[in-house]
Amino acid sequence: MSRRPDDICPRFEPVPQTPTEPFSAPLIPTAVWRCESTQQAEQLLAGDLAGYVYQRDGHPNADIFAAKCRELHRAERAAVVSSGMAAMALALLTQVEPGGRILVSNQLYGRTSLLFTSEARRLGCTSSIVDPTDLAAVQAEVERGADLLVVETISNPMLRVADIRALAEIVRGGGERRCRLLVDNTFATPVLCQPLTLGADLVVESVTKLMNGHGDVMLGVLCGPESLWGRTPLAVSAWGLACSPFDAWLATRGLVTLALRSERASNNAMAAAKFLSTRREVLDVHYPGLPGHPDHQLAARQFGGQFGAMVSFRLAGGRFAADAFIRTAEGIPFCPSLGDAATTLSHPLSTSHRGLSEQDQQALGIDGGVIRLSVGIESAEQVIDSLSQGLSAL
Ligand SMILES: *Cc1c(COP(=O)(O)O)cnc(C)c1O
Repeated sequence: MSRRPDDICPRFEPVPQTPTEPFSAPLIPTAVWRCESTQQAEQLLAGDLAGYVYQRDGHPNADIFAAKCRELHRAERAAVVSSGMAAMALALLTQVEPGGRILVSNQLYGRTSLLFTSEARRLGCTSSIVDPTDLAAVQAEVERGADLLVVETISNPMLRVADIRALAEIVRGGGERRCRLLVDNTFATPVLCQPLTLGADLVVESVTKLMNGHGDVMLGVLCGPESLWGRTPLAVSAWGLACSPFDAWLATRGLVTLALRSERASNNAMAAAKFLSTRREVLDVHYPGLPGHPDHQLAARQFGGQFGAMVSFRLAGGRFAADAFIRTAEGIPFCPSLGDAATTLSHPLSTSHRGLSEQDQQALGIDGGVIRLSVGIESAEQVIDSLSQGLSAL
């Protein structure tokens, strides 16, 4: 008997069998997997049998991306989650207990800072702010007892570089209460820096930014050793941090060109930084590749010859000049994010750092004239032409 459309349509037909393998990663968005038997379902759900049952607990596209991250970061384990902040939340939920103390860099991404201070307080933790470029101050705080130190490899917007090897030594020497070093490597990517190889305990990437590089994904990853992994898969599932297969699939594709994009963007950023340094409209330029940057030597040692895609500069005319620059530099859209293939700019005072007190803004060197470039992979001539056009309005 032939089936009716309403019986045909809802039924899933098996994937066609073929003796060949797909060469590029397939996208597998299924929310649930069909089990063979009750025994198999039990084994899968107990973790006694490796395999998939429910997307929130794990899926092939996350695992394909995780395998790349493990290799890139020389990590034993990697958890791919729905955003960079989900990866940070995962670290907080798995690495710190109520009563724990967190040392928070004074130069963190705004939401990270919020997570490890006021949100962590709601979970019964305390936190103190430290300047990661002041190693003696970090050492003193670690010696007072701490469980987690959170820093960024390259900070926003002044692009200060954390000495990861030195910080790792400090947390290791901190006494019986072993403090862990968590590094947000988003601005560096594994092309410039692999913090775990320098002694860090855990590393987070906001894949949303440079790792995916195409501005069309929200994704994060936490990498670390087996010894710290205990509760991690459970926390991903119970707190609902899992990523979508589509985002993991797109990011896997974005990774294909990561090394090439990084090299081109770093070269372009160096050219842009040098160009800006010659202009009278610009008061100062912040780029770790410039010999005058306070962390230039460290960056040269730690990053293997590239200095990254981010450049900041301060216009002499303050916020008025920044507004004019943004209006006139037509080739550089004002997008308060970073890491895309095209060059974009952001204005920290009105976007990423608007929540800080005026005192904190001043301490970080942020005023209305500061512009942060995320340099893309266009030709260097195009990038410099656009900057030149923007400066011509001042
Ligand atoms: C964007 C960003 C994050 C947060 O990542 P999302 O993917 O947006 O959640 C964390 N750290 C840094 C340095 C970032 O730039």
